[in-house]
Amino acid sequence: MYRSPFQTISRQTTAFKKKGSWKLGYHTGIDRVCDTNRILVACTDGTVTRVNSCGASYGNHIVFRTDDNRSVLYAHMADKPAVKVGERIRSGQILGRMGNTGNSYGAHLHIEVQNSKAWGYGKKLINPNSVINWEKFSDKEGDFMSKSWKNGSTPEKVYQTVADCKAKKNSIGSLDARESATCVAIADGCYLLTYSAAGTTKAGFVAYAGGVK
Ligand SMILES: [Zn+2]
Repeated sequence: MYRSPFQTISRQTTAFKKKGSWKLGYHTGIDRVCDTNRILVACTDGTVTRVNSCGASYGNHIVFRTDDNRSVLYAHMADKPAVKVGERIRSGQILGRMGNTGNSYGAHLHIEVQNSKAWGYGKKLINPNSVINWEKFSDKEGDFMSKSWKNGSTPEKVYQTVADCKAKKNSIGSLDARESATCVAIADGCYLLTYSAAGTTKAGFVAYAGGVK
């Protein structure tokens, strides 16, 4: 399974092959939104095959051929991807930011996966959820499964990105002492937690190591 194109928890907003006013009469990929971090990374190793050449409705977009010969499209990105056709990309490499370009109503990632080395509209589509584990955020730690997490006696600062967590700056909130959370991944020594606060689910990284079991 590929890792998530996001760096933190995301949620699906439109399902694969949902019927509607799309050109083929159905949705050719899935839509997902990340509420805490807009960065998009490569979900696996591959080679860039197209940049902004699949049609204006996709807005800023990128297609890459995975090393296992699928085509993956990220659409509606905030900016033109900084990578070039032919460039090798590595899983986890930053490709751009979730955006609202092209036929898009609100920032989201539209992702398509095709069982084909070359992308073509509506060609050999597969459900992205069949190849992406949306709760996998790192390739370095193997298959990290959700674990329970219990804070100690002092509050923990929560960070939006691994870089901020490692540098211990730009906190986006904090967990109360002894508040429970679910640890869903580990990246570069920082734990990605989801927790409930004020009735909503939040996600962020903490550097605390003692609370995971
Ligand atoms: Zn879509």
